[in-house]
Amino acid sequence: MLIDGKLVAERVKGELGARLVALREAHPAVVPGLAIVLVGHHPPSEIYVKKKLDACRKVGIRATLHRFPSDVDQPTLHGQVAMLNADPAVHAILVQLPLPLHLDTKATIDRVDPDKDVDGLHPLNIGRLHSGRAGFIPCTPLGVMRLLAEHSVELKGRHAVVLGRSAIVGRPMSWLLLRAHATVTTCHRHTADTASFARTADVLVTAVGKPGLVTRDWVKPGAVVVDVGINRLPDGRVVGDCDPEVREVARLVTPVPGGVGPMTVAMMLSNVVTAAERFARRAIAG
Ligand code: NAD
Repeated sequence: MLIDGKLVAERVKGELGARLVALREAHPAVVPGLAIVLVGHHPPSEIYVKKKLDACRKVGIRATLHRFPSDVDQPTLHGQVAMLNADPAVHAILVQLPLPLHLDTKATIDRVDPDKDVDGLHPLNIGRLHSGRAGFIPCTPLGVMRLLAEHSVELKGRHAVVLGRSAIVGRPMSWLLLRAHATVTTCHRHTADTASFARTADVLVTAVGKPGLVTRDWVKPGAVVVDVGINRLPDGRVVGDCDPEVREVARLVTPVPGGVGPMTVAMMLSNVVTAAERFARRAIAG
C-alpha cells in the first residue's frame, strides 16, 4: 500500500489552522514570521524556497526572502543573520543550503538564534534532540515520524535501517527512531554491503539521492519503506531512491513524489508556528 503524504500533510496543515487561531486570540500582535536567507542561484534551492514561501502565505505565516549574490562575503551574511535574530517580527530563520563553497556553512548556522532555528541544525538543537529536550527537529525526519505514526507503524523493538547520515536527514532520522525504541542501523557511503543491512529492516528509510538504489531484493517482505530521496532523471521525471518493484514486497511504501516531500513542507510550517508560540509565551513570562 502507498502512504499518501499529501493527505497527511493536509491534516497537519488543518491542525496548524487551529493553532494559528488560538495564537491570534491569545496574542493578536504575534503574526508568525519566517525569514529565508538565500545565497546565489542554485536551481533546486530556488524551487524549494518558492514552495516554502507559497506554503507560508497560504496558511497565514508572514514569510520574507533575503537574497544575496553568490559572491556575498561571510561578514555580510553574519550581519544579516544578526539582524534577523534581533527582529521581534521574525520568529523563525531558514538559511537555505547548500551555501556557495567559499562560505562557512557551520559558522553561519551557529549564528542563528537557536530559538529561531526551525531547521534544527544549530548545535544546541542537535544537543536538545539527543538529550530529549524540547528544541527544533529537522522537518524531513519529523515528517517521516508523523507518517509512521499516522499508519500505526510499530517501532518499539523493531529493526529500523536508515540509509544516509546527513545532518539534515539521515542522522536526526536515526536518532528519532532510536528515541522511539527501535533498534537502529545507520548505513552510509562507506558501509560494506548496505543491501545486507537493508534486508533485515522492519522499517527501511532511504535518504541517499540515488535513483534505483533500493531494489526489491533489498527489502524484507512486509517491511515499511520510506523513500526520502528526490532525484530528477534526464527525462525530467522525479523519482526516489527505490525501484518501483519495491512496492510488490513492502507492506507500506512512500511514493515519490507525494510521500515525504509534502510532509517536509508541512512540518516546516509547524516548526515556524511552534517558534511563534514559544516567542509569545516568553514575551508573557518576560
Ligand atoms: P546528502 O548527499 O547530504 O547525504 C546522502 C547520504 O547518503 C550520505 O550520508 C552518504 O554517506 C549516503 N550514501 C551514499 N551512498 C550510499 C549507499 N550506497 N548506501 C547507504 N548510504 C549511502 O543528502 P541529503 O541532504 O541527506 O538528502 C538525501 C536525499 O534526500 C536526496 O535525494 C535529497 O534530494 C532528498 N531529500 C528529500 C527531502 C524531502 O522532503 N523528501 C528533504 C531533504 C532531502
